[in-house]
Amino acid sequence: MMKVSLTGGAVLRRLEKLHAPPRTFLHWRTPLDLLVATILSAQCTDVRVNIVTKTLYKKYQTPQDYVAVPRKELEKDIHSCGTYRNKARFIQEMCARLISHHHGKVPQTMGELTALQGVGRKTASIILWACFGKNEGIAVDTHVIRVSQRLGLTKHKDPKRIELDLMKALPNKKWGEFTTLIITHGRAVCTARNRQCEKCVFKKECPSSLVLGRKDVAKP
Ligand code: SF4
Repeated sequence: MMKVSLTGGAVLRRLEKLHAPPRTFLHWRTPLDLLVATILSAQCTDVRVNIVTKTLYKKYQTPQDYVAVPRKELEKDIHSCGTYRNKARFIQEMCARLISHHHGKVPQTMGELTALQGVGRKTASIILWACFGKNEGIAVDTHVIRVSQRLGLTKHKDPKRIELDLMKALPNKKWGEFTTLIITHGRAVCTARNRQCEKCVFKKECPSSLVLGRKDVAKP
C-alpha cells in the first residue's frame, strides 16, 4: 500500500480555501462575554450557550455585574447549560479575580488567563486569538483531537502532546486560525460518526480515508 502523508501546512492551505473566514462558534461582543461563554460551553452545545448568552449579556455587562447578584440568581440564569452550580461559581470567582487583580479587565497573557477560575489553556488560547489576535497556543477540543489524528498530524491522545505536535507542524501566526478551521471541518465533514470522506478534500491522501479503504485511526 502506498504511504501517504499530509503536512500541517498543506492541511491549513486547503482548509483556508474551503472554510474561510475562520470564526468562533460562540457569540460574543467583549472578551468578558467570550470568557463566560467558554465556561458555559463545557459539556454543553454552542447552540444552547448562544441561546442563553443572548439574554445573559444584556443583564451582565461587567465583572461587577456578575459578582453583585446572589449565586442562586446566576445559577437560574445559566441553568439550561448544565452543571450550573459549578459554572456559576467559576464565573463569579473568575470575575472577582478580574476585579481584584486586573482592574476589571480581561488579561492578555496565557499565565494571567489560566490563573482565572475555570479557565484552562484551551480557553485561554481561544481568548488570546479571538479577542486580542495573539497566537500563544492551539485550543485542542474533541474536534481538533479527532481530525488531527485522522489526518495523521498526531499519533497522540493526550491534548497537551497533540497541541505540541500541531504547534510544531504549523507556523505560529496560524495557530488560532488553524484551530477554528479544523473545528469547522470536524463539524461539517469529518464528523465523529459517519465521516463523509467521499466529499472531503483530503480523501486521496488522508490515512483514515474511507475512499482509500482505510480504518479510522482516531483514538476514542
Ligand atoms: S478523508 Fe475522511 S477521515 Fe480523512 S479528513 Fe476527510 S473526512 Fe476525515
